[in-house]
Amino acid sequence: MISGKAILAGVLGWPVKHSLSPTLHNHWLRQLGIDGAYVPMAVDPANLESVLRALPRMGFAGCNLTIPHKERAFEIVDTRSEIAERIGAVNTIIIQKDGSLHGTNTDAQGFMNNIIKKAPTLNKKKVVVLGAGGAALAVCAALQDAGFEEIVIINRTYEKAEIVARKFGAALRAAQWEAGEAEMEQASLLVNTTSLGMDGQEPLMLPLSHLPLDAVVNDIVYAPLMTDLLKQAKAKGNPIVTGIGMLIEQAVPGFEAWFGKPPPVTASEEALLLKQLRQ
Ligand code: NAP
Repeated sequence: MISGKAILAGVLGWPVKHSLSPTLHNHWLRQLGIDGAYVPMAVDPANLESVLRALPRMGFAGCNLTIPHKERAFEIVDTRSEIAERIGAVNTIIIQKDGSLHGTNTDAQGFMNNIIKKAPTLNKKKVVVLGAGGAALAVCAALQDAGFEEIVIINRTYEKAEIVARKFGAALRAAQWEAGEAEMEQASLLVNTTSLGMDGQEPLMLPLSHLPLDAVVNDIVYAPLMTDLLKQAKAKGNPIVTGIGMLIEQAVPGFEAWFGKPPPVTASEEALLLKQLRQ
């Protein structure tokens, strides 16, 4: 039931119709019996600032931001968390009592919580990250915080990999895409943060011959769930972690801040989102 006292939040994207966040948050609201609603908002980038400024006036508790709004929202918000500052993007806004917009980024925490849950015994010696876009920034921040000793960033556009490596410091270094296969030697984790493998994109076909058999392979692309990279890794015998868990974990801090209770993360959330993806 949504009463006149309902707490409101939502997700802003352009387009937004593919977002799984409304399904997830409204499922949690029902599960916890909270009087609240989480709505999709299709917002043209030209209107982002005026829409964000209207949210406190409409009584919203906050919102999520998805493509293409994360970097622009970073510039618009009034205050930012330390992790948002490091990543340079905001995916969660919490509206303060005075109506100001506090921006944070929960992708790093979402990525690492998912990895820790699915691969708890992972060693932190060497990780290879494919990609140097927005998601890679969050993943690299999380890997740095987790204390990985060597973080190698491989990107089609090498200069972007270098920029990410410089941003996060000594444990990180950039390598050419062509060196990707050899760089997998001695890695304990391989993470794909490129959009390759996503529905409608080319598959990611990087040979895994040098990757140790016990290395965990994580693809943060979740549509489809089993990307070609994950299929290849599974066939080779490597443990795999899909991207759906990160999507669920990154939603947790926002939900708790807006609606006042930590949401449950169980197998049923993954099943629910996978059902929606199949539809
Ligand atoms: P982005 O900023 O646009 O970055 C895209 C990355 O993919 C860049 O590194 C780009 O390389 C690379 N790329 C694109 N086409 C390529 C090609 N043909 N060959 C080689 N590399 C290519 O996107 P993003 O925001 O980082 O998102 C990337 C993916 O992560 C998306 O699929 C998104 O859905 C997923 N994601 C998942 C979660 C989750 O919760 N599971 C969270 C965030 C993002 P260049 O620099 O050379 O262009």
